[in-house]
Amino acid sequence: MQSILKHLCRVPAVMKAELSNALFDALPKTGWLYPDLTLSAAQMYGQGVRADDLHALVERGLAESKVLCRCARCPACQTHQCSIWERCMRCESANLTAIPLFHHILCAAIFEAPNGLAAVERCEKCDQPLADEPAMVEPVGDTYRCRDCGGHSPEPKLAFYCFGCQKVHAFDEVTFHRLWKFRRATTHSALTDSVRQKNDV
Ligand SMILES: [Zn+2]
Ligand SMILES: [Zn+2]
Ligand SMILES: [Zn+2]
Repeated sequence: MQSILKHLCRVPAVMKAELSNALFDALPKTGWLYPDLTLSAAQMYGQGVRADDLHALVERGLAESKVLCRCARCPACQTHQCSIWERCMRCESANLTAIPLFHHILCAAIFEAPNGLAAVERCEKCDQPLADEPAMVEPVGDTYRCRDCGGHSPEPKLAFYCFGCQKVHAFDEVTFHRLWKFRRATTHSALTDSVRQKNDV
């Protein structure tokens, strides 16, 4: 009876060690294990390979990690395939174009140059030829024109579009996460530890 109890008590430790060996084997022999951004966060390092378990390997000196990126996670499918979408503030159409704005320092006019500064001959406000004193003209950003409703706005409305589940998400629905790459530890002590760990089982 005592030996059965002793055996049962040993099981979790053995399972834990087996799990960590399986995780170590999941790391490529050379190079890094990268997350697959097209898969959900729970599966991006491989089936049954959790990021937390890989971090535990790092803590034990068996693996090394490096932050790869900090990027948006889709709230619907949990993948990292979100791209920023710009839309019209007024009608939400994506049919927007950015038009460069310029400042004529001499008269304080702000004007649009949809075809570039070279295409603007004279200042709309003071009528001076702009080529006369090019240093008196400076770029001051863009304005956004909607080709569907004709609206202008200094900023587009921003949203995220997920290429995984093809859904649009409001900016505050999306969360940002650091993602890591992992590899087998290359230091001598870590390799020794890893061999010891395997022998313990
Ligand atoms: Zn619009
Ligand atoms: Zn002017
Ligand atoms: Zn998604």
